[in-house]
Amino acid sequence: MALELLKDHFAELLWVFAGRRVPLDGMSSKVLRFMLERPEGCDAVLEPGRIEIRFGWHPARHRYQPSVAPRIVSYLLDLAKTRGETCSKLRAVIGPASVPAINFPTWSFETRRIWIEQSDLKVVILVRSAEATESLESTGALPEPIGFPAPVFVEFSTAVACPTCSAGGTVFREFDGGFLVCGNCGGSFAKPEWDAAEQAVAADDPAAGKSE
Ligand SMILES: [Zn+2]
Repeated sequence: MALELLKDHFAELLWVFAGRRVPLDGMSSKVLRFMLERPEGCDAVLEPGRIEIRFGWHPARHRYQPSVAPRIVSYLLDLAKTRGETCSKLRAVIGPASVPAINFPTWSFETRRIWIEQSDLKVVILVRSAEATESLESTGALPEPIGFPAPVFVEFSTAVACPTCSAGGTVFREFDGGFLVCGNCGGSFAKPEWDAAEQAVAADDPAAGKSE
């Protein structure tokens, strides 16, 4: 039963490419906002039973309910003014535009370039920022894929002891949410706040704490 439902969402998505439209709802509006609002863009892969999005501002894998896919693609194709025609390889410039409140507050986005590639097994959507003056004709090659984030390390002025194995160290890998990883035992623990001023090599992560 569950598998049938998952297949149905993808089947519905393929119908959207054939011209059908499914309206945005609150959840899909929220996910679409993550995809369009920030200039860093995103890479999204939609498959039967699975949606995975990497955002330029937070390139970890984010998964969402497959039911949002037909709604999001319906909206994107309408923004790109594509309907009922072959669009297995769509390139378009959309926005700036506002999305009305639909069980989710209204939001807006600036000009974005989108690439959508569709097959019977997978749909790929790429979003990048674009200048308002860019024309459709200039849509060129696919953009570089959004990569995984480089590891972030923090350095302490005095040794910090791992609470699991008691090994001390001054440099630790840090994960989102302020957790450090012990290089000796692999255990993780909360970053001590008393030495926050000593983060000599911490990279700025504007998306920390905002992932879905
Ligand atoms: Zn340890």
